[in-house]
Amino acid sequence: MNNRKNTARRELQQQRLDAGFVSSHYPEVASIVINMMYDQRGTKSLSRIVNFFPGSYAFFKVACLNNDCVDGGFDLTQVITSMIRNHNKASNGNLSCESAEHSTIAYEIAIQYA
Ligand SMILES: [Zn+2]
Repeated sequence: MNNRKNTARRELQQQRLDAGFVSSHYPEVASIVINMMYDQRGTKSLSRIVNFFPGSYAFFKVACLNNDCVDGGFDLTQVITSMIRNHNKASNGNLSCESAEHSTIAYEIAIQYA
């Protein structure tokens, strides 16, 4: 693993810590489930599920699994915050990696409210 990737990973970790907890930002949220199909161009598809609870960090950026990807990822912050604002329970869509078009996700998000 190279230094740029290490640095990017540390920054991501710091951003996660800085984000604070779901319970303090969104006290009405009981759980968030992100169900996604990760597609890396020319290779495999991979299904991933990410769960958030009140004690989780309110950081909704998902890492890109491409080994060569440095600053990429999939930022679901906007989608999730607007869902919470509107009290939506379900949403879905597609995103490309922020760094390059080498991977995409198709996501389904389910939010339960307290
Ligand atoms: Zn990427």
